Amino acid sequence: MAGVNDFPARAVVDLGAVRGNVRALAAHAPSAQVMAVVKADAYGHGLVPAALAALEGGATWLGTAQVPEALHLRRAGVTGARILTWLYAPGAPLREAVEADVDLSVASRWALDEVVAAARTAGRTARVHLKVDTGLGRNGLMPGDLPDVLTAALAAEAEGLVRVVGVWSHLAFADDPGHPVVLQQAAVFAEAVALVEAAGARLEVRHLANSAATLTAPALHWDLVRPGIAVYGLSPVPQVGSHDRFGLVPAMTLEAQLATVKHVPAGSGVSYGHEYVVPHDTVLGVVPLGYADGLPRHASGSRDRWGGPVQVGGRRLGVAGRVCMDQVVLDLGPGAQEAAGDRVVLWGDGRDGAPTAQDWAEVAGTISYEVVTRLGARVPRTYV
Ligand code: PLP
Repeated sequence: MAGVNDFPARAVVDLGAVRGNVRALAAHAPSAQVMAVVKADAYGHGLVPAALAALEGGATWLGTAQVPEALHLRRAGVTGARILTWLYAPGAPLREAVEADVDLSVASRWALDEVVAAARTAGRTARVHLKVDTGLGRNGLMPGDLPDVLTAALAAEAEGLVRVVGVWSHLAFADDPGHPVVLQQAAVFAEAVALVEAAGARLEVRHLANSAATLTAPALHWDLVRPGIAVYGLSPVPQVGSHDRFGLVPAMTLEAQLATVKHVPAGSGVSYGHEYVVPHDTVLGVVPLGYADGLPRHASGSRDRWGGPVQVGGRRLGVAGRVCMDQVVLDLGPGAQEAAGDRVVLWGDGRDGAPTAQDWAEVAGTISYEVVTRLGARVPRTYV
């Protein structure tokens, strides 16, 4: 990879994998449409390229958390798909969203009022999805507040200002489909849908399922599924590998060039705090990526264990000592043949023995979502 970028590392995003993952998800939910969730720069993969690939793979909707993310997609020419956006505070650019034909979630009364005002100014009908908090305890209308907001929404619909096209919610334990809270949420959701339909709303989509529910809980698919992490090929259920049961392929490979390779004597301390001390004369390799680039500092190595896993020269090693802001160190071993410029894979699709983002998550005590989403902005993304 020498000379590919000025920056000595890159994330290679396999858009074919994104397309294939969406096809696999659609096959798991044959009676539902697929909304690819592309918030947070498509979980670090690059908003526009990932969104386009997801649409090519068969998604008909895109989901973003923030209004500016949805507007960015429209400005980038993503016009052929519905986009739903769901998290905004008072004063958000809702008029622009309505003008850009973006569907808006409504999770409180003030939000409905702002959507109605935005539609009036834009001179267009706003499509809204009523978000119900069925038990996640996060954004969403409490079921008891739904009737009033629904009445107001249908009054605005009668004026041509909004159209209530969706009812939706989000699960708290989707990665554990038998969990009683999932069943409870499913029941509350069904009641909310029934209430909205009985009031006369002509719903297009009722949606509840994230990746885990898309892959493991067909009863929760309703009309539309909203996978995020699985679009990028990572398993939403950590105990189940991406390929094994779900047919997913991780799309991102993070690779770097060794910046320094040098011999050091036994007893040398490595990185801040000398958490690792080399037990014998050895060769150290410096990888020019650190926590500024999103490598979790909790994936530091110590005397007792390797840190975040890497593949170099066909071997699997782990970070030695602490993860620094811009670099991590490897103990390449006494006879190492590597040279500066050689390729190191930090995470990839796992198929050739390379570590995955899930492996990093396990070492760092976090989830793969966080590992890929936090990949720093200075790491170039390239697309294949
Ligand atoms: N729907 C909503 C409202 C979300 O916030 C998210 C992501 O957290 C998703 C769907 C996708 O979830 P996942 O990445 O677990 O598939």
